Amino acid sequence: MTYDLAIIGGGPAGAAAAVYAARKHLRSVFITKDWLGQSNVSEKVENWIGTTAISGLELSMNLEKHAKAYAEGVIDFKEGELATNITKTGDNFTITTSKENYEAKTVLIVSGSSRRKLTVPGAETYEHKGLTYCASCDGPMYSGQDVAVVGGGNAGFESAAQLLAYCKSVTLLSRSEFKADPGTVEKVLSNPKMKAFEFTVPKEVKGGQFVTSLIYTDTKSGKDTEISVTGIFAEIGSMPNTDFAKDIVRLDKFNHIIVDARNQRASDGIWAAGDCTDGLYHQNNIAAGDAVKAVEDIYLYINAK
Ligand SMILES: Cc1cc2nc3c(=O)[nH]c(=O)nc-3n(C[C@H](O)[C@H](O)[C@H](O)COP(=O)(O)OP(=O)(O)OC[C@H]3O[C@@H](n4cnc5c(N)ncnc54)[C@H](O)[C@@H]3O)c2cc1C
Repeated sequence: MTYDLAIIGGGPAGAAAAVYAARKHLRSVFITKDWLGQSNVSEKVENWIGTTAISGLELSMNLEKHAKAYAEGVIDFKEGELATNITKTGDNFTITTSKENYEAKTVLIVSGSSRRKLTVPGAETYEHKGLTYCASCDGPMYSGQDVAVVGGGNAGFESAAQLLAYCKSVTLLSRSEFKADPGTVEKVLSNPKMKAFEFTVPKEVKGGQFVTSLIYTDTKSGKDTEISVTGIFAEIGSMPNTDFAKDIVRLDKFNHIIVDARNQRASDGIWAAGDCTDGLYHQNNIAAGDAVKAVEDIYLYINAK
């Protein structure tokens, strides 16, 4: 069959799109790897409007529930499927996934972004063996131990703040000056267990079966230093999940999909919303709102076409 709409991604943007598409009776296919929006790892999300505080995981579960609430007979959910390509077939689009092909008149890409990985020697070997990308998920396993955080932005300093609650020491490396909010930097640095160095980059992750140390370079002096740590938490940004769409929409230099911010259009018949776009600000509420904007526009496009 040819769907009116294919929605790709099950984060807050995807869930918002599903609610609006269902209520507008847009016959849709909803393709997602999972329902875990990025903040699912957060202990507490305190800025999801209308909810004072909620765990990230509970928020993801609520979003899935809401996405499915009005969807019967309107939206077909294809969970555990990864979109791998989109091609134009006549007036419609073919979305290829890890399992199937789907035809749709329009496409909404809400595939979000993923953590940027460390690429230094040893990083691949020690991923999940001391090197991790989620302090709130894995931090408690390093209680009483010396750990390092790579990244001097808000995510890096917030991870350090969590780790300071139970780790013996936290050493933070920032490749530039610290980029986190000054208040957060000041608070974290005031903890006697905390050390932080600007203009430092990791050079090698070392260990036996698990991580035992990290070598870093001071980029101003060129000097290498090895520190004994059993945990390394990398918080070095994220990359949009847009590879599967690169041949059909325009991407900026960071691989974000370029959209018209008034209506989220990326190209004729394709819309995008949330963290996969070149929008300046990326938050749960923004992702959901932008997806709503897109579905409003898609509805008009389909009915006016
Ligand atoms: C640790 C952390 C904490 C955060 N805390 C907050 C907070 O407190 N408040 C706040 O407002 N924001 C927070 N954010 C930001 C917020 O999580 C994002 O802005 C939001 O999740 C973006 O939503 P999205 O729907 O665009 O994408 P995502 O949440 O990234 O969801 C993308 C979805 O697409 C799926 N997907 C990806 N690629 C494919 C593919 N090829 N095929 C099929 N499916 C695919 C994924 O499985 C996922 O379901 C946080 C982010 C992080 C990393």
